[in-house]
Amino acid sequence: MLDADFFRRWMTAAAASVDREAERLTALDSPIGDADHGSNLQRGFRAVTATLEKEAPDTPGAILQLAGRQLISTVGGASGPLYGTLLRRTGKALGDATEVTEQQLTDAVREGVDAVMALGGAAPGDKTMIDALVPAVDALATSFRAAAAAAEEGAVATIPLQARKGRASYLGERSIGHQDPGATSSALLIAALVEASGE
Ligand code: ADP
Ligand code: MG
Ligand code: MG
Repeated sequence: MLDADFFRRWMTAAAASVDREAERLTALDSPIGDADHGSNLQRGFRAVTATLEKEAPDTPGAILQLAGRQLISTVGGASGPLYGTLLRRTGKALGDATEVTEQQLTDAVREGVDAVMALGGAAPGDKTMIDALVPAVDALATSFRAAAAAAEEGAVATIPLQARKGRASYLGERSIGHQDPGATSSALLIAALVEASGE
């Protein structure tokens, strides 16, 4: 079973990973964006960990919903509302249980990813975070490690794609040949599940 501590570790590990990789995320956002993805998420996840320490919500659902609200209010840019929606909707789907199964987490993340697609209008293949998140959800039923590998593979697979959503889409064909920053950060978020689980 996954308890509140697991979800706190997930968010802490994600924040640490974003801190470590912030420069790379911003560098990826330079040729096909406005070079702020790393700093956007760094600001957001620092706010998440600070707020979780202060407010100490005690259920998985409350932790993810609080984290999502923080991302929405602190991350400027497209990724804030999208990641915020992902975490809020996933948290909402977990309800007020004090512990959840891996299957419940998988189902909840699927609802979260569906909500991101509804909000942003992106489908798989549009060269966005969705290209990492959808394969990750599909592999989550197997293991966190499988989901992390699938997300990483999905992020790398955005390189030959032409962007159809977000800022990168303004570049048309010139967006081809670059890895999507949001798909890359999504892979970090999923990899943080492995760290949280000690799998
Ligand atoms: P901004 O583009 O506003 O500066 P960020 O740089 O923080 O925001 O985030 C850019 C990332 O957001 C992209 O790499 C992409 O993965 C993701 N993104 C942008 N628009 C969408 C969308 N409509 N649906 C899903 N993801 C999107
Ligand atoms: Mg940007
Ligand atoms: Mg921006």
